[in-house]
Amino acid sequence: MIDLHTHTTCSDGTDSPFALVKKALSTGVTTLAITDHDTTAGWSEAITALQPQIELVLGAEISCLTSDGISVHMLGLLFDGENAAMQQILADSRDTRIPRMRKMVELLRADGIDISLADVQAQTPAGATVGRPHLADALVRKGVVASRDEAFLNLLNNESKYYVTHAAPTPVEAIRAIHAAGGVAVIAHPFASRRGQIITSETFADLVAAGLNGIEVDHRDQNAEERKTLREIAQELNLVITGSSDYHGTGKLNAMAENTTLAAQWEALEAQADARRVVRV
Ligand code: AMP
Ligand code: ZN
Ligand code: FE
Ligand code: FE
Repeated sequence: MIDLHTHTTCSDGTDSPFALVKKALSTGVTTLAITDHDTTAGWSEAITALQPQIELVLGAEISCLTSDGISVHMLGLLFDGENAAMQQILADSRDTRIPRMRKMVELLRADGIDISLADVQAQTPAGATVGRPHLADALVRKGVVASRDEAFLNLLNNESKYYVTHAAPTPVEAIRAIHAAGGVAVIAHPFASRRGQIITSETFADLVAAGLNGIEVDHRDQNAEERKTLREIAQELNLVITGSSDYHGTGKLNAMAENTTLAAQWEALEAQADARRVVRV
């Protein structure tokens, strides 16, 4: 059972990296990728939880923006965590997320919503990449909304007047950086239209030219029709097809391994990485 996209308390998941691996073990996952937003901070702790029956794929989900301002998430897997250029991209994203959060809070306050940056910080685990889910949790805490989902639906989605962006590479820049660090790039939930504007089918050719390796097809935010189109694009462009849970602990409904990747697809993907960086004990 192969799950190539999960989050921990190092971003907006609710399981620690150690607990994530334990959860994967109890679920029967045999290949697990840890892909926190814009950070590799969870890698070392996750490794300490490994058992012989599971292998760990070190990765990150890089928040990107196209030149048209469309949000794209790029999964970087099997890259060298000590690559300076890669760490700089991740650090720039994290650093600008703090002033970005301050702006979002100010916009909400200006509309009479009782929320402060301190409220958001209280919901953000130490060292985590701060994001809208933490702001959502703070709004739940304050009684402004009932759930993270309601917060996104009414206040925090990409189309909302309270939405502010942070520094982000373009998808092409992210792919190049992942490759330069020896890894492989899989575009996450490209047709998850309920989150906001999505890229068009034509865009994939540019990403492939930059070195895109795979497309996350099976993901809960993509319906049957969207998955069918993506599968066709992947076949046409000779890209690996993945499926994954995007597990966030109790932060989201996504259950560990609710979508998985076929062994042959994973083997094809791993073979495209520069070095074998899958961690086993
Ligand atoms: P951020 O990186 O701070 O912009 O927040 C992005 C995260 O918010 C994503 O990884 C999702 O987990 C979550 N998210 C984005 N859009 C939605 C949505 N419409 N509903 C629920 N969660 C969302
Ligand atoms: Zn997330
Ligand atoms: Fe994502
Ligand atoms: Fe994710």
